[in-house]
Amino acid sequence: RTSVGLLVKYHEDFEKRYARRLAIISELKHALVSAQSELKMVYQPKLELKAGKVTHAEALIRWNSSTLGFVPPDEFIGIAEQAGLIGQVTDFVIKTAIIDAKRIVESGLDICIAINLSAKDILNPKLLSVIEQHLKHYQVDASRLSFEITESDLVADPKKAVDELNRFREMGFSLAIDDFGTGYSSLAYLKQLPVSELKIDKSFVLKLAEQSSDQQIVQTILELAHNFQLGVIAEGVENQQSLKLLKEWGCDWVQGYHVCRPIDVEDMIQWCLQNAQ
Ligand code: C2E
Ligand code: CA
Ligand code: CA
Ligand code: CA
Repeated sequence: RTSVGLLVKYHEDFEKRYARRLAIISELKHALVSAQSELKMVYQPKLELKAGKVTHAEALIRWNSSTLGFVPPDEFIGIAEQAGLIGQVTDFVIKTAIIDAKRIVESGLDICIAINLSAKDILNPKLLSVIEQHLKHYQVDASRLSFEITESDLVADPKKAVDELNRFREMGFSLAIDDFGTGYSSLAYLKQLPVSELKIDKSFVLKLAEQSSDQQIVQTILELAHNFQLGVIAEGVENQQSLKLLKEWGCDWVQGYHVCRPIDVEDMIQWCLQNAQ
């Protein structure tokens, strides 16, 4: 290819991505106001290994657009943040998760829902009061919710983020650091964060049985976290071999397709009642 050819190709790719972005923004705006039936939440259990019980379930958003088809959250969450729509997305997530948390309590299960927050959410001064209002309205206790945040969400303004997270803790929510190991947190910084759990990113867990470098990383994170009195969750547990290793090394919770896929709330309740309580 000539350099002009490459430039044309680059330009075409850029236009395609740009058009896709615009379509996602406009369709998402539509989905957020239209009775919201294109958006829904699914839940994936976190199994506590010692007790053999599901103590938490992660809330994961799904968007089935009538025009774009299934759009993965990895694609649209970032765009929603940049387009100023993440507040509305998070509102939907929180409200739905609280309604489902109530449903879970009523079914007799003792499970806490873990909600993913993005950087913009944490710095949104209204977020906590919105959560409080929904909890009050649906009469759900704060102990039924926990939150997952990524290291990269915090780096923009670490001091302010720590203050915000402290407010979450004061309200009784537990916090986990998501995607742990993929960011740049120093130990000193980690120590300042008011979090109670670390979640090892699935990139270190997916091939755990085959990859000795991943084994070293995971064992190191476990040792480090436990020294700081933090609980550890491994995500992306896809097979029996990784489950076995994680058990041996004293990992606290596991989550992944080998345990249970993300499913809707009624299915999750049935699954937990049958398999893990
Ligand atoms: P995450 O928070 O790191 O979530 C873990 C992802 O791994 C989820 O993908 C989950 O479905 C997937 N997963 C679970 N078990 C396995 C497994 O055994 N193997 C493999 N390969 N994958 C597994 P999902 O649902 O597509 O979400 C992708 C990302 O989108 C999430 O990463 C999170 O950053 C974001 N996200 C999802 N839902 C929400 C939400 O409600 N709000 C916000 N702000 N972000 C969300
Ligand atoms: Ca997560
Ligand atoms: Ca992850
Ligand atoms: Ca993530």
